[in-house]
Amino acid sequence: MSAFEAVIGLEVHVQLKTKSKLFCACPTAYGLPPNSATCPVCLGLPGALPTLNAETVRMAIRLGRALEARIQPRSTFYRKQYFYGDLPKGYQITQGPVAIVEEGTLRLPGDAAVRGASGPIACGIERAHLEEDAGKSNHDLHDGATLVDLNRAGVALLEIVGKPDLRSPLEAMEYLKSLHRLVTFLGICDGNMEEGSFRCDANVSLRKVGTEPFGTRVEIKNLNSFNNVRRALEFEILRQGRLLAAGDALTPETRGWDADKGETRIQRSKEGAHDYRFFPEPDLPTLVIEPAELKGALPELPEARAQRFMASHGLSEFEATTLLQSRPFAEYFEALATASGHAKAACNWMLGEVSRHLNDHGLGIGALPVAPEVLGALVRLVEDRVLNLTTAKDTVFPALLKGERDPAAFVAAQGLGQVSDRGAIEDLVRGILAANPDAVAQFRGGRANLRGFLVGQAMKAGGGKLDARLVNDVLDAELAKA
Ligand code: ADP
Ligand code: MG
Ligand code: ZN
Repeated sequence: MSAFEAVIGLEVHVQLKTKSKLFCACPTAYGLPPNSATCPVCLGLPGALPTLNAETVRMAIRLGRALEARIQPRSTFYRKQYFYGDLPKGYQITQGPVAIVEEGTLRLPGDAAVRGASGPIACGIERAHLEEDAGKSNHDLHDGATLVDLNRAGVALLEIVGKPDLRSPLEAMEYLKSLHRLVTFLGICDGNMEEGSFRCDANVSLRKVGTEPFGTRVEIKNLNSFNNVRRALEFEILRQGRLLAAGDALTPETRGWDADKGETRIQRSKEGAHDYRFFPEPDLPTLVIEPAELKGALPELPEARAQRFMASHGLSEFEATTLLQSRPFAEYFEALATASGHAKAACNWMLGEVSRHLNDHGLGIGALPVAPEVLGALVRLVEDRVLNLTTAKDTVFPALLKGERDPAAFVAAQGLGQVSDRGAIEDLVRGILAANPDAVAQFRGGRANLRGFLVGQAMKAGGGKLDARLVNDVLDAELAKA
């Protein structure tokens, strides 16, 4: 089995965050009443003419520049013809032989888990082209009937076609995360995978290790999370490996991922694939990009922001990358770091309590009911050693989640402030040592782990309000006495 190497290339459909559709003024908002956001253009009524939405071009250029790609000065639109209920025109307008963005590079963070490499790796981008979305067929809303909602028909997509440069499911997942980060940081996509704003198809083939030619490619559809991409590729690599090891030939095909069953199933064979009869769109002129349109500042890219977090806040690459999971998350962190004046502590809170709360409730950072200024005040109380960390996490943070706005006042009112009076702590620690002579003797006899037990006893005796650092200091000093 290990005689084969996986070759993976991803195609990602990014829904552009524009107010109106690609070729008409219909709104793109999600969840409008079915078929209410439609007009003669996106319904494909005879005689209706498309007009290109200039905002989509600016967004495509922004992505192209971030990918260090070639922005084509002239690109064209084509008609891709096929018949389906949710495609009212009978064709999709997409970009023809020349796409607006070609030949770019996506850099992935140098996670040691990926390709066993340390240091960033890169994946080629073949092209990114503008195209319109189809409508939506709902098969489960009505018994025995499929209902078609055309609100999505004509919404602007950017299809980003990656080169087959990826070699493992983990690498593919990192590629997808990096691309997701990039488009959300550029502000061209909301990144919502459940609502289908960021969709991925994965292509995978196997080849004998050390050989050049690629094997037969299978395309996997219906991948709507980072994890599903990884799992589907793992399954597919095993399936193909088994067939090849048995001497069977693979056929080029499209397979669908079933997340519940954890398997891919054939949807259609690519042999005798339908002929889309591509031809130039007669109703749209050549898309011409002037050099002046390629100027102007780009927003700070995730990679640059990660470097800044590491350099100015002393964070590890893992911490910086995790904070950059989305633009709002990174922005909350920056506000928290400023408000608290302690970037490292702010990072620990973001990756600890805050993430735990969001994950437990399936929420995004936008739904956290605590402003960064309020949480920042709590972080400061801990860093200033007014409050111990355990009390901050277990008692004060939950109060903030319930609507408390003033951590300092809350701590004072509840008498939660920590004891950091050295004399008082010394008395208490001496009492603990006197009450546990066996543990002290065994500790001195070499059982070093009993120190933790003694710290725990002291913290408990102090009602969880003692300054833990001071308790440790005092305990060491007392134990050092003969
Ligand atoms: P299609 O029109 O069939 O989707 P494209 O050329 O648009 O074909 O996309 C091909 C995708 O498949 C790209 O993402 C590319 O990286 C990937 N790919 C091409 N050849 C292979 C291969 N042999 N194994 C795995 N992936 C491949
Ligand atoms: Mg394709
Ligand atoms: Zn319309």
